[in-house]
Amino acid sequence: MEVRCELLVYFEKKGYTVDMRNKCSEFLEDLSEKTIRRFPPLRYICSINVMELLEENPNLGTLLFAEPMEFINMADNILYACLRTYEQNPLLESVRDSQVKIILRLSSVPELFVPTNQHHYNGLVTFKGMLIDITKPVHYAFHTVWSCPEECEDSEVILHYLPECAPKCCVCKSVLFENSALRRCGEEVKAIFTVENDFLSKTLPITDDLILKLRLGNKYFLTGTVVKKKVYLFSVEELQTLAAPLTAPIPGGNK
Ligand SMILES: [Zn+2]
Repeated sequence: MEVRCELLVYFEKKGYTVDMRNKCSEFLEDLSEKTIRRFPPLRYICSINVMELLEENPNLGTLLFAEPMEFINMADNILYACLRTYEQNPLLESVRDSQVKIILRLSSVPELFVPTNQHHYNGLVTFKGMLIDITKPVHYAFHTVWSCPEECEDSEVILHYLPECAPKCCVCKSVLFENSALRRCGEEVKAIFTVENDFLSKTLPITDDLILKLRLGNKYFLTGTVVKKKVYLFSVEELQTLAAPLTAPIPGGNK
């Protein structure tokens, strides 16, 4: 079976697709003729238990480890397909696939499978370290909308980041301008960790729901990926330091 079908079957089995359809239904209810041309984002948090996925479908587990961004692309397509099932809704016609985005969150990531601190690697990477400093939250753009000054038809572009240079119109090649009123932002902090077996500290961007997990002085196991030198984190798991077990005297050992 093709891997994207395997993902769909897995999502069906785990009830994600029902959940996605509900989310899409809410999204469509919130749409009106007025908002539709403003390209609101549809975001869905997809929480995957990695151990469970590996056990139930090693193929998908391997894909997640080797190419997490490809995994997200496939999940984006499934979310968009769920939205398309409401085809009787006339507002659907103007919704673009680029408005739809999965937020991947992972739990139970097995440490042993993942190479640590690797650059130039498309797969999942992990970091382990103690949180020693954290900056104040700042806004980051997760959804930006760009339009053509010549008002060419269907030339709007939706990006899930803020590009360094403005994109160009696919019709007339003019430089697009950003509709800054349509920009959607999240919160981001820079968290500084000491890394085990390393004298250097590591600064990582941590966003939205993951920020709440951070406490200074605690140790964390983080999983993410690096794309064009930017780190995207999918999980921030606190490492519990186990208390030393109470030792009982060895019977007969103290004579
Ligand atoms: Zn144009």
